[in-house]
Amino acid sequence: MNEPAISFRTTAEAGNARVGTLLTRRGEIETPVFMPVGTAGSVKGIRFEELENNDLDARIILSNTYHLWLRPGIETIRACGGLHRFTGWDRALLTDSGGFQVWSLGASRKISEEGTEFRSHVDGSLQFLSPEVSMEVQAALGSDIVMVFDECAPGNSPREEARQSMELTARWARRSRQRFDSLQEEDADTGKKPGQDLSGRQALFGIVQGASHLDLRRESLQRTMELNFDGYAIGGLSVGEEKKVMWDVVGEVAPLMPADRPRYLMGVGTPEDLVEAVAHGIDMFDCVLPTRNGRNGQAFTSRGRLNIKNAQWTKDARPLDEFCKCSVCGRHSRAYLRHLYLSGEMLASVLLTYHNLRFFLDTMRVVRQSIRSGEFPKFRREFTEQLAANGE
Ligand SMILES: [Zn+2]
Repeated sequence: MNEPAISFRTTAEAGNARVGTLLTRRGEIETPVFMPVGTAGSVKGIRFEELENNDLDARIILSNTYHLWLRPGIETIRACGGLHRFTGWDRALLTDSGGFQVWSLGASRKISEEGTEFRSHVDGSLQFLSPEVSMEVQAALGSDIVMVFDECAPGNSPREEARQSMELTARWARRSRQRFDSLQEEDADTGKKPGQDLSGRQALFGIVQGASHLDLRRESLQRTMELNFDGYAIGGLSVGEEKKVMWDVVGEVAPLMPADRPRYLMGVGTPEDLVEAVAHGIDMFDCVLPTRNGRNGQAFTSRGRLNIKNAQWTKDARPLDEFCKCSVCGRHSRAYLRHLYLSGEMLASVLLTYHNLRFFLDTMRVVRQSIRSGEFPKFRREFTEQLAANGE
C-alpha cells in the first residue's frame, strides 16, 4: 500500500503565505485552517451540528489525548468504536500527544528518558506517559492526525536546558514514529477509513522544539524531517514567552519547513497572531481563546475585543460585531447578551462561543480569499488597523 495517509497541495501563494487543500480520510480541509479545541471530546458550549453548519463549517477539531486517556479511558472509547463514533463527530480529528498537558502539570511530574510520570488531575493516581503509550492511546482514539510525543521547554529556557529538551524530543520522535508504524501494521487504529487516493491510515506529525534558540530550532527541524512525517508542527510557543520570541522563531523556522507538507503552529493564538503567522507560511492553528474567553464574557470582533460585562452595553441595541453575519449577531443585542451573562444564564456562554468561533473561522476564510485574489498584504494591514481601532 503506497497511498499516503493525507495529501496536501498548495493552490495559491502570496509571499510566504499560502492557500492549500489538505485531503484527509475524513474530508477535505482548506488551509490556512483554524481548529476549534475539543479537549474532552466536546468543543465546550457548542453542538456538533452548529460546528458543521454553513455559518461555521469547521472541517477539523482537536482533542486532547491526556484528558481522554484519563477519562473516560481508552477501554471505554475503544469499546464504543473509537472517538469519532463515541462522540458523533465524523469530520477530521487531530489529537495532541499529551506531552504539553503533562508538561503544564509543573512540579507534579517527573521526566526521565523513558517518559513522564505524573499524578492524574482526575483521581490523583500515579500515571506514566511515554512515546509508546501516547501512540497506543491515539490509535485507540482513531484520530485522523496524530502528534508525536514531545517535551516542551518554555520559550525563555536557558540554552543548555533547551538543548537537552530538544534532544529528548528528537529521541522521543523516533520512538513515536516506530511505535506508530507498528500500530498501523497491527490494525490498532479504530478510525481506519480506506478511500480512493488515501491509505485510510492515521497521519503522523512531527514537532519542532528548541525554545527561543534559533540554531536549536533549526537543528530540531532537521532531525524531525529525517523521520519523514506527514506534516510538521512548531511547539513550545505561546507558553508565556515574549511575543518577539515567538515571531523570531516562526519567522526562522516556518520558511524552512517542507513546502509540500502542512505546517502547524500549536496553541496559537489571537486573531492578529493567526494572520501574522499565515504571512510566515503557517497552515494550521488551534487555540482555546474563542471558546474559553467566550465563556468568560469576552467577544472577538472585527473592531477588537469586547467585554460583555461592561456597563456601557446595558442599553446597547447593536450586535456584538456590526460586520459579522453570524446568527447570533443577526438576532441578539449586546444589551441582551450582557443581561444573560450577568444573570448567570448558560445561554450567554453558548452565544458568545458561537460568535467567537465564527469570527476565528471566518477570519481564516477571508485570509484564504485574499491570498487567492492577491490582496493579502492589504487585508493584513487593514485587519490589524481595525482591531486596534476600538479594542478594549
Ligand atoms: Zn457574530
